[in-house]
Amino acid sequence: MTETATISADDKTPAGSLTMTVDGHPVDAESRIEVINPSTAEVFTTVPDCSAEQFDQAVRGAEAAFAQWRRTPLEERQELLLKACEKIEANLDELARLLTLENGKPLANARGEIGAALGHWRAYAEIEFGDEVLRSDDERHIVLRRVPLGVVGAITAWNYPILLAAFKLGPALLAGNTVVLKPSPFTPVATLLFGRIVNEVFPPGVVQVLSGGDELGRWITAHPGIAKVSFTGSVPTGRAIMAASAPTLKRLTLELGGNDAGIVLPGTDIEKRADDLYWAGFSNCGQVCAGLKRLYVHESQIKEVAAALATVAATIKVGDGFDEGVQTGPIQNKPQFDRVRLLVDDAVDAGAEIVYQGDVPDDDGYFFPITIIGNAAEGSALVDEEPFGPVLPLITYSDIDDAITRANATDYGLGASVWGEDPDQTRRVAEQLEAGTVWINVHPSLLPTVPFGGRKQSGIGVEASRLGIEAYTDISVLHIKK
Ligand code: NAD
Repeated sequence: MTETATISADDKTPAGSLTMTVDGHPVDAESRIEVINPSTAEVFTTVPDCSAEQFDQAVRGAEAAFAQWRRTPLEERQELLLKACEKIEANLDELARLLTLENGKPLANARGEIGAALGHWRAYAEIEFGDEVLRSDDERHIVLRRVPLGVVGAITAWNYPILLAAFKLGPALLAGNTVVLKPSPFTPVATLLFGRIVNEVFPPGVVQVLSGGDELGRWITAHPGIAKVSFTGSVPTGRAIMAASAPTLKRLTLELGGNDAGIVLPGTDIEKRADDLYWAGFSNCGQVCAGLKRLYVHESQIKEVAAALATVAATIKVGDGFDEGVQTGPIQNKPQFDRVRLLVDDAVDAGAEIVYQGDVPDDDGYFFPITIIGNAAEGSALVDEEPFGPVLPLITYSDIDDAITRANATDYGLGASVWGEDPDQTRRVAEQLEAGTVWINVHPSLLPTVPFGGRKQSGIGVEASRLGIEAYTDISVLHIKK
């Protein structure tokens, strides 16, 4: 084992205690990988780099635990999930601190992310799902049973490490599966502690948490002992996972990228909507799968919208997530930072104009200025691809039907939004947008009892709600002739 770097001067979690969890035990690895604090661009700790042998052992352990866990009554599984919430809540300060260190988001937002994860788990524990009698008469009794799948491989992205893990683990465990969880190598730290905490509640082997590079994800998709892969990440990785899962016909939930369009209808009360429009595009430093990424504005209001968004942007403090009053942190990692810069430069070269660009701290972190781009158009990568950073292109339209066509002219289909004051008109436009969720006068909003997922190449399946839990089951029909 290599020597571990220090987390920070006032840390409570010694870096060496950031272990994986296998069969309820803390497990280290022969080698460790470095984790960078995006606010300083410096390595702040290391985590275990799971070996192939350790991965295999974790899958075997989860398979063994499944035999018992699937027979545990649902009420008991629900109780354990709620008990895990209490444990997480008791450790919320430390989890949030690690999340801010590794992700960069302001501490209040890190706390908010963990709070949202708890809210989802508590609500999931009350969702009714299960067997359904399809026919019962003198001749036949037919029951549609919902049976667990086995071991679920859960793979998460770096923008919401704890919330994304909660979206997967809660439903998977309630449905009677065991889980091998792998966070992004960019943000494994809080997830490792999360794994230690929930293992105080669940029986050994039910929740295995491993850290490692992308190859760990590839091992998950290849392993015959994994029955389902539940993945959140980019479209290209989603495609690779689907292909790699084919030989063993794994079940898949793919929550992939988005390039969500918003349409501001003529006559919208811009002053009233400005704050919500701003945060639709810029929350979590623009690193939200279903964040607003292209804003279509009617020509009659384009100047007003640009000015209103710039006014809000000018009030935002960008900086280290631990600093007082900071509302927006850095971009989470260097490759993403470079990509956002490239997209903005490329759009400006092609004729777009910078309507607003904010200040950033004069530090080494991956701070990108909040940027609002005007005169943007399809054909530039900034508009056609998912930027995933603090930049929002404004696109002018003159005809609503044309705006709808342009908003839909993408392979993505995660979210979309319509902004306006006339309920009939906003609804009529919303129903024509091709997305898993279409919001009106808000964007995005995810609730535990409401399914969330992508259409087109933004994904397969949904998370949250009864449907999200049933996604971790197979159907087995019991057909009795009387
Ligand atoms: P990514 O696809 O690069 O990585 C995601 C995860 O997949 C990581 O844990 C990574 O280690 C793992 N991985 C990489 N290659 C793999 C492979 N071949 N097989 C298996 N696993 C592999 O995505 P990212 O950059 O971490 O996340 C950003 C993307 O995630 C954006 O596109 C964003 O829109 C998307 N996202 C989607 C949702 C949603 O719910 N739809 C939510 C959050 C983020």
